[in-house]
Amino acid sequence: MSQGIALPGAGADIRAGPTVDGRPLAGGLDTSHGAILYLENIGVSFDGFRALNGLSLTVDDGELRCVIGPNGAGKTTMMDVITGKTRPDEGTVFFGQTIDLARLTEPEIAHAGIGRKFQKPTVFEQHTVFENLELAMKADKRVFPTLRARLDSAARDRILRTLELIRLVPDAKRPAGLLSHGQKQWLEIGMLLMQEPRLLLLDEPVAGMTDAETKRSAELFLQLAGDYTLIVVEHDMDFVAGIADRVSVLHEGRVLAEGSMHQVQQHEQVIEVFLGR
Ligand code: ADP
Ligand code: MG
Repeated sequence: MSQGIALPGAGADIRAGPTVDGRPLAGGLDTSHGAILYLENIGVSFDGFRALNGLSLTVDDGELRCVIGPNGAGKTTMMDVITGKTRPDEGTVFFGQTIDLARLTEPEIAHAGIGRKFQKPTVFEQHTVFENLELAMKADKRVFPTLRARLDSAARDRILRTLELIRLVPDAKRPAGLLSHGQKQWLEIGMLLMQEPRLLLLDEPVAGMTDAETKRSAELFLQLAGDYTLIVVEHDMDFVAGIADRVSVLHEGRVLAEGSMHQVQQHEQVIEVFLGR
């Protein structure tokens, strides 16, 4: 494949300064202060309605952070700001010490190492599980210049390691459309991992899962934490209590309380908001 061919969205549009193998500033992700994500005083308005209103949040590198809060609190809007889908009217959002996410486009933010999983699984149903992971890797623009007709052994090994992690080795050759809902969700997480993100954003990842699948997801997320940073928006409080390093409670577009699940449950205003006392 000639490098001169313009591939859809392939890297050529990166304008945000230094790049490493086509990834904007990825080599420059600086987490030396311990944190990987800084949201400071973020404001987002929709037709005058303040969806986010002075939202500040810092997430440590390798942390598993859960974000909870009533419907309309701004959880999804917060994810949209991090991934560049929505631009804040106020405030700053930094990936590590130096990467100003407000200066990057959505694809550039993805390449910088932020992966997002939406609620509905979006796997290629007619392709096998293995092929889905392979396609996710090839969709990674950094691979294009060296793309070969056959997978090299390093790429194969990465796919196999991911299959083990998401426990789909026995299903590798099955079409993804035949997987259970939970298995599809894990496959999609595997597809994100193929792109080597540093930060994973998961919006309601266990919604619709069986109890066994939910338990297995908790194990997976605990396994991923440390190697990756995870921000998980989830309504299932037992699930949150079982996995979170820290919990941030969002209410009316800002953080109302933060700490361990136990700490936020004791918080006076949280009790008021959730239990109406
Ligand atoms: P959550 O995910 O916590 O339920 P959202 O971030 O989806 O909350 O929404 C926060 C508030 O912003 C809600 O009141 C919602 O109706 C509003 N909102 C979100 N996105 C838009 C949009 N694109 N246009 C107008 N209002 C929006
Ligand atoms: Mg939401």
